[in-house]
Amino acid sequence: MNNEYDISGNFARYKKKSTKKRGYDIVVFDCDSTLTKIEGVDLLAELKGREKEVKALTEMTMNGHLLFSQALHQRLEMVKPTKKELLWLGGQYIENRLSDAREVIARLKEAGRKVYIVTGGYREAVEILAEYLGVKKRNVFALDLKFGKNENYLGPNWKNPLSQHDGKREILRRISKQGKTIFVGDGATDLETKDVVDLFVGFGGVVVRPIVKENADVFLEELSLLPILKIVQKGRKT
Ligand SMILES: [Mg+2]
Repeated sequence: MNNEYDISGNFARYKKKSTKKRGYDIVVFDCDSTLTKIEGVDLLAELKGREKEVKALTEMTMNGHLLFSQALHQRLEMVKPTKKELLWLGGQYIENRLSDAREVIARLKEAGRKVYIVTGGYREAVEILAEYLGVKKRNVFALDLKFGKNENYLGPNWKNPLSQHDGKREILRRISKQGKTIFVGDGATDLETKDVVDLFVGFGGVVVRPIVKENADVFLEELSLLPILKIVQKGRKT
């Protein structure tokens, strides 16, 4: 491309483009509807026969119409997942994973990139998928739920930043201090991280959310995470 010789002389614009950071050190993925094709909480709701109510709440949150912490509380009260159900969900995450998720993560790690998962999903389930994909437990940031003696649901751990509406943003702010960071996610809570990461990649391979599509630095619509490899290596996709 010969943008630098653009006769319109829009040098400032060229300069901004050319100095855009090239290559990234850290790749952070959302979980539900990004690494896996399902929304975990919707599946749990189906188990309990509350899918319609829960799905409506999930959609409202993902499209930015409801505070995450409010929706979290309301959904969990409807679903009350047991530990056993979360382990089952972990298996569902794997079964419904993006077919190239494991390969993409392996190649990122081979190339010396750090890989994290930051999600509003529930820890017990997400860790099962993370292990399968080769992401260490300490690189997984997920919601913690409290369980009783019989592994029955008691409530969320509200001290976990991810139980708050700007939780992902706070975690990403910390992670991105370690290096140039990309965040890949499908939802409105993912989009909230845009100003604290170096590149926000909206993932529309599973679900296209208009607010994310309009505001992402880059938006992917195919059902594949492979384009991430190119972006990470070469910098911003043009
Ligand atoms: Mg998601």
